[in-house]
Amino acid sequence: MLDRQAISALEPNIIPAYSVGLLHTQTASVDSPGGVVKAYAQLLAAGGGTVRQSEVRRIAPQGDGWRVQLADGEIAARHVVVALGPWSAELLRPLGYRVPLAFERGYHQHFVPNPARKLLRPIHDAEGSFLMTPMEQGIRVTSGVELTARDAPSNYAQLESVVPMARSVVEFGDAVGERWRGARPTLPDSLPMIGAAPRHRGLWLAFGNQHIGFTTGPGTGAAIAAMIAGDTPPFDVTAFSPGRYIA
Ligand SMILES: Cc1cc2nc3c(=O)[nH]c(=O)nc-3n(C[C@H](O)[C@H](O)[C@H](O)COP(=O)(O)OP(=O)(O)OC[C@H]3O[C@@H](n4cnc5c(N)ncnc54)[C@H](O)[C@@H]3O)c2cc1C
Repeated sequence: MLDRQAISALEPNIIPAYSVGLLHTQTASVDSPGGVVKAYAQLLAAGGGTVRQSEVRRIAPQGDGWRVQLADGEIAARHVVVALGPWSAELLRPLGYRVPLAFERGYHQHFVPNPARKLLRPIHDAEGSFLMTPMEQGIRVTSGVELTARDAPSNYAQLESVVPMARSVVEFGDAVGERWRGARPTLPDSLPMIGAAPRHRGLWLAFGNQHIGFTTGPGTGAAIAAMIAGDTPPFDVTAFSPGRYIA
C-alpha cells in the first residue's frame, strides 16, 4: 500500500492526485506487444517452423487429417489448432460447434509524452476506470470494457470521457495516430478453451483468453503443443476443457 508521498517517490511526474495506491510487484509490462509477437514468430522460424500469412476460409476433415482452405491455396495437415481469438467461433460453426463466445471490446489512444514529465510505469486509476501506460508510441490511455457485437461500429464515448481525466494526472501532448479498438474473446466462465474438439480427431481449440491473452497465450500454446505430442501439459488443463460448452 502506498500513501501520497510514496506514490510521488515512485512516480515523481504525476500530479499528486491520489491519496492511496497499490503497487503490484509481481506483474510486468511491455512497451511494444507487436514487437514481442514478432519475436515469437522469429523464434518459431529459428526452430524450423514456417510462418505463412493467409486468410483461412474453411477447415474440413480429410482422410486422417484436415484440409485447410486458404484465400490463396490449401494446406493438408494432420492436426489443426484453431487459435483465432474472437474469430474462432465462426470457423467452427460449419463443423456443428456453437461456441458461446462473447466480445469485451476496448479502445485506446496514444499521446505525445512530455519528456520532462515522463510516466515510469502503467497506472490504473481504479475510480476513473482507465489505464495510462508508457508505450513505444507514446502514453497510451485506455477505455473500460464495452459489451457489444464484435464488429459493431466504434463508440468512442468511454475513451473521450477518460482522456481529460488522464490529462489531469499526467501532462501529455497531442494524440498520435488513430484511436484503436480491439475485441477480447470471452467465454461465460472467463476461462479459455484449451484442448481437443469433442467430435473431431486432430482438431484443437486454443482461444478465449479474454483480457489476459497476451500474457496467457504462450502458456496456451505450450499446453496445446504438449497435448498434440501426447505429452503431459505444463499445467492442469481440466478447467479449460472445450467439452464444458460444446459437444
Ligand atoms: C483493449 C484490449 C486490451 C488488452 N489488454 C491486455 C493486456 O493488458 N494484457 C494481456 O495479457 N492481454 C490483453 N488483451 C487480451 C489479448 O489481446 C487477447 O486475449 C489475445 O490477443 C488473444 O490472443 P489470440 O492469439 O488468441 O488471438 P488474437 O490475438 O486475436 O489473434 C487472432 C489472429 O487470428 C487472425 N484471424 C482471424 N480470422 C482469421 C482467418 N479466417 N484466417 C486467418 N487469420 C485469421 C486475426 O487477424 C488475428 O491476428 C487485451 C485485449 C484488448 C482488446
